Amino acid sequence: MAKLTLKNVFKRYDNSGKKKVKNDYAVKELSFECVDGEFVGILGPSGCGKTTTLRMIAGLEDITGGDICIGESRVNDLPPKDRHIGLAFEDYALYPPLTVYDNIAFNLRAKNVSESEIQKEISRIAPLLKVDDILEYKPVALSGGQKQRVNIARAIVRKPKLLLLDEPLSHLDGKMRQVLRTEIKRLHKEIKCTTIIVTHDQLEAMSLADRIVIMKDGQLQQFGTPLEVYDDPVNEFVAGFIGEPPMNIMTVKISKQEGEFFFDFANSDVRISVPKRYYPVVKEGMSVRLGVRPTDVLIGDENSKGSKVKVAVFENLGEERRVSIRVGDEYLNLTTAEEIRYKAGDTIKLEVNAEKTHLFDINTGDRIRVK
Ligand code: ADP
Ligand code: MG
Repeated sequence: MAKLTLKNVFKRYDNSGKKKVKNDYAVKELSFECVDGEFVGILGPSGCGKTTTLRMIAGLEDITGGDICIGESRVNDLPPKDRHIGLAFEDYALYPPLTVYDNIAFNLRAKNVSESEIQKEISRIAPLLKVDDILEYKPVALSGGQKQRVNIARAIVRKPKLLLLDEPLSHLDGKMRQVLRTEIKRLHKEIKCTTIIVTHDQLEAMSLADRIVIMKDGQLQQFGTPLEVYDDPVNEFVAGFIGEPPMNIMTVKISKQEGEFFFDFANSDVRISVPKRYYPVVKEGMSVRLGVRPTDVLIGDENSKGSKVKVAVFENLGEERRVSIRVGDEYLNLTTAEEIRYKAGDTIKLEVNAEKTHLFDINTGDRIRVK
């Protein structure tokens, strides 16, 4: 176990020989620190620099600038084998001619660990990953889920200080993903190893990690607990990336009538009262991006003063219902656990839990903060 620190890390691949590939930074001024024993997720869309970050931590990729420390030691120039890390990538890369046992033993044998030690280690690890009854199988006989278990077993067999997982669940089908996700969480509790998981799946990061590093275009957007990034996103990107179905984020214009402010939607007569707490930061005529989670869009009863809007799509998903509402040029989505039933074209009254809304700067996408 150890803490991990990244200080102002940059990575630029040498793409100079390749035409058409722009030679930009894959990772830019990335800094974060995982405390000892923490489970951290690195989350972001494809190509944002997650794997590059993990490979730099592992020592498989040179660092263009900045420092990486494991524990108190700077590891920039340390070869991977001296960093005490366990690695499991998305493709399992098991050795096909070897049994599961021999695959797990491979790195220990390379380090001249005695066969009796190896046997002790494997009998400790195998039950943790539920591979104890497939130890004599060859990889070809294993399911995807079993291969990933073996892959992770191999990564933790040397008692690493740091366990690095790169999209370990993305090759698995829905059910198996969920099973293995739970198992990884349990495993982390049992071995208490500082763990970093790279994923593009926000649900995976939210359910596994103590804290999440959210990246876009090689840069850190926010580093926080799942609740922090959900409730208190720093910008429009984070707000839209975390949450399923995603937050509604729409351009609205501020109007003023008899001393009260309203959010007006373009090409529509729908308006929503601006909560008083936003009064210090809004001005008449200003355009802002308004963010509302689908669970905070509500259907008013017959006494509601909400604007009348038309249902565009109604979906009943069993445990919840989703309604898509046309507002001007945009669609506003709501989800509810209530037993409602509509069809396209029905009129409903739109209400919004305005206290739960977020405002974003229309130019920068940054959260407009109110005290
Ligand atoms: P992610 O894992 O988030 O999908 P990557 O870290 O793999 O993203 O890639 C980040 C960026 O670096 C991408 O633009 C990708 O094309 C580029 N990149 C990744 N690996 C290499 C490489 N070996 N050579 C050149 N460019 C690379
Ligand atoms: Mg990747």
